[in-house]
Amino acid sequence: FKKIRKTQNDQISIEITRLLLRLEKLISISESIPKNTNTKERRKYEQEIVEWIDDSKVSLCPSCAKSFSLSRRKHHCRLDGFVICDQCSRFLLYSKARFLIEPNSSSSPSNKKTTNGLSLKRSNSLTNLNSTTNNDDTNLNNKDKINNEDYLRICLSCQKILQRRYDQICFKNAQRDDVFLYYEKIAEAQKELANIHSTYSTIIESLLSGDTKYQIIDGQRLYRQLTSCYEKIDSTSKYIAKLAESCPNIDEDDTQSQMRYAALCRNIRMYAVHLLQNYAISTRRVPSEDDVQHARDERKRLVEERNELERAAKAELVSKISLTDSPTTPKKDVSGWRPTIDRSLLVQTQELNPLVQQVYQVTEYIRQAQIAGRLDEVELLKLNLKELEQALDNLQQQENTSKFDSQ
Ligand SMILES: [Zn+2]
Ligand SMILES: [Zn+2]
Repeated sequence: FKKIRKTQNDQISIEITRLLLRLEKLISISESIPKNTNTKERRKYEQEIVEWIDDSKVSLCPSCAKSFSLSRRKHHCRLDGFVICDQCSRFLLYSKARFLIEPNSSSSPSNKKTTNGLSLKRSNSLTNLNSTTNNDDTNLNNKDKINNEDYLRICLSCQKILQRRYDQICFKNAQRDDVFLYYEKIAEAQKELANIHSTYSTIIESLLSGDTKYQIIDGQRLYRQLTSCYEKIDSTSKYIAKLAESCPNIDEDDTQSQMRYAALCRNIRMYAVHLLQNYAISTRRVPSEDDVQHARDERKRLVEERNELERAAKAELVSKISLTDSPTTPKKDVSGWRPTIDRSLLVQTQELNPLVQQVYQVTEYIRQAQIAGRLDEVELLKLNLKELEQALDNLQQQENTSKFDSQ
């Protein structure tokens, strides 16, 4: 069956190609000849491309089998030269013929949108391919133009072949337009989803931490929005995946592009499924009333506990400060360790020379530093002591000399 179908398809595609070639020639000829050329001249050009059958031997219309007469005149299909009656004629507008030859034709960017729209519109109705329906347009026979546009008279069988080509193009265009349209919908829903999900996560986080900024109903509202986004992405991507399966029978040339198109559709669906799975994993359910109440109680307890700890710490600090607030000797060059002044020593040495007082003091510091194990301080103080002793010696010598001088 497949083999037969393939040969049939091949046959059709050959016929389509043959007709399209003729169509192209006919259009280019008609465009090259002057506009005022009469019908007879025109026919001569047309017959150079497609030979017309000798109508003197034809007495019946091959399509409707009615005999020709004065009221049923003979006409020629411009594409295969067969004789037909007017009723069985179809009229192909040049614009549509051009579209058949070059569906993605060189329409300027500004025109592109309108062409797309037209192609979609055309796909709605099969008879749109024809400029006229058989019944009420018989007066069009002798006119070369319909709505000021050139057209070609063709027979039903040629029309049928071209219609196939037309359907292929329109189907593909419509499909492609659909994919882009639906893909954009998915992208939009994804953006929305990311926003909602972020807010939703914040709300759930807040609820579970016992915060009272949000209520459960807020979470539920956003959860519904999330679900509707999921459904939108799911159904849209499913629809796109379905488009991949509904490929029409097309000729060989189109197979590759059709395969690429199908792969694109499947990839979009796969992407959407992955996206939804990831969101499903990272989305927590709205917590229950009990859970939230429990979290709030817990938070309240923790806050109270912390306050209690802070109070205790403060109290301890205050008591420590009052304890260590005893008078200390400021001594800049010794950090971390402070020798205490023995007041009784000060009293004892009060009447002595200030230098001697200092010697006593430093000696006392050295003793304390030795007890505290501060060897570096001891060294420093000993050096201090030596200087003091030196100064004391000098003073005594001066006193001696002054005594000697006075003598
Ligand atoms: Zn007929
Ligand atoms: Zn024909």
